[in-house]
Amino acid sequence: MAHRDTASPLPQNVNMAKIRNKEKSYKKYLESQCSDQWRQYLELTLSAPPGRVRAYVHWHLHNKHKRSMYKPAPYLTHPSCPYQLELLRLRTQDTIHIIPSHLHYALKVPRTDYQDRVCPHCFDKGTTVLGDEIHIICHCPTTQGVLQQFTAKFQGLTRLLDLPPFVSFTPDEKTPMVLGNPPPQVLQKGLKGWVTEATPICSEFAYAIRMHVTSLLPVVVDMSSDYEAAMSSDNNDDFSPILLPPGFQPALTPPNATTLVPLLFHHLGPSPMSPNELWTCPDAAMAQAHGCQRSSCGSVRRGRGGDRYSQRRS
Ligand SMILES: [Zn+2]
Repeated sequence: MAHRDTASPLPQNVNMAKIRNKEKSYKKYLESQCSDQWRQYLELTLSAPPGRVRAYVHWHLHNKHKRSMYKPAPYLTHPSCPYQLELLRLRTQDTIHIIPSHLHYALKVPRTDYQDRVCPHCFDKGTTVLGDEIHIICHCPTTQGVLQQFTAKFQGLTRLLDLPPFVSFTPDEKTPMVLGNPPPQVLQKGLKGWVTEATPICSEFAYAIRMHVTSLLPVVVDMSSDYEAAMSSDNNDDFSPILLPPGFQPALTPPNATTLVPLLFHHLGPSPMSPNELWTCPDAAMAQAHGCQRSSCGSVRRGRGGDRYSQRRS
């Protein structure tokens, strides 16, 4: 059993518990205290400048249902529903090409500040507006059609759960709702019904908006998360543009085994080979691109990942 301060009285429900339940009761009491403090700490970001943490707290934590931080979000308690992973990815700011403000590492250019991550669809039409959750889901002329297609389903959901009509909610209320968060009108006793009925619709919505935004993209973009394991588990996640060093061109034909450059060469300063020949060894080219003269291919790879991890979260 955890040691406690003997000068502090035990809470009433712990005192009242049977001897064999006292430890469990005290553990629950501590969890609830820690959870409250944890959430209060996170809610401090609501008064901070805009950023990814503040966005997460605003949309997913700051609501009437003050769930224990030791328990998963309600939508995750649904035993099985199609596209649940899509909803997880959208909520955890993983897929940066859907919600531009989720950008969490640099691509071809240094990462822009949060408030400058504009909606590319509107930018192309001459409007500069932050591409955050509420914009992409409710306001963007290019993407709001997805929510309109789902309005009938969400209307049916609110009718089923005896809530005010979905169309009567404001965009600021609709956004967390379609991302799986119960609106304030859902009582604690109705939470299970919300999870059962809403999670499949919200998950399908998350899938639909990804498919729609992906269909607008001219090329495949990097939609990877910070996890290397996640990257290797999905071919679409493994795309990472490599910038050529000045004066280098990619080989016109794919290299075969006999044209690969021995790794030794890029440790020896100026190469006796032509740039084209050097480029046939991707790792050698990567070492050049990163100004690395001495590192092995493995360390180059780790170095790139390390840059990403060391970036400031904003
Ligand atoms: Zn837009």
